[in-house]
Amino acid sequence: MSITFQVAKRSTCDRAQVGSIIVKDRRILTTGYNGAPAGLPHCDEIGHLMINGHCVRTLHAEQNAIIQAALHGVGVAGGVIYVTHQPCLTCAKMIINAGIVRVVYAGHYPDPNAVEFLREASVSLSPHPAPGLSPAESA
Ligand SMILES: [Zn+2]
Ligand SMILES: [Zn+2]
Repeated sequence: MSITFQVAKRSTCDRAQVGSIIVKDRRILTTGYNGAPAGLPHCDEIGHLMINGHCVRTLHAEQNAIIQAALHGVGVAGGVIYVTHQPCLTCAKMIINAGIVRVVYAGHYPDPNAVEFLREASVSLSPHPAPGLSPAESA
């Protein structure tokens, strides 16, 4: 989990610095942090792109970790994803269809639908306090 927080430091959107890593058989397969698509300007260069109170310029950390696996032809089915924050609904749906079987997350994110979807799909959810932080502080 501390590696996941290191990855989050690369985030280019300071509204939420999120990191994720996908692990299988005790090996890190891919990593991701939230940022603009490759080759496009980032929030820390040109500002956020706000719609309905959310910055929509970025791909989420979980999405980038899954895309990186697709890009390099790495199988993540049966893997575990570590995330600094609880996944949102879109990420939860991608995690389910990527065949990831467990989500370990530190901070809370207010999306009860995401939790419900993951539970229904039998993806196990493991809250894990951030290194050196209480779960409340890391939310
Ligand atoms: Zn942003
Ligand atoms: Zn997300």
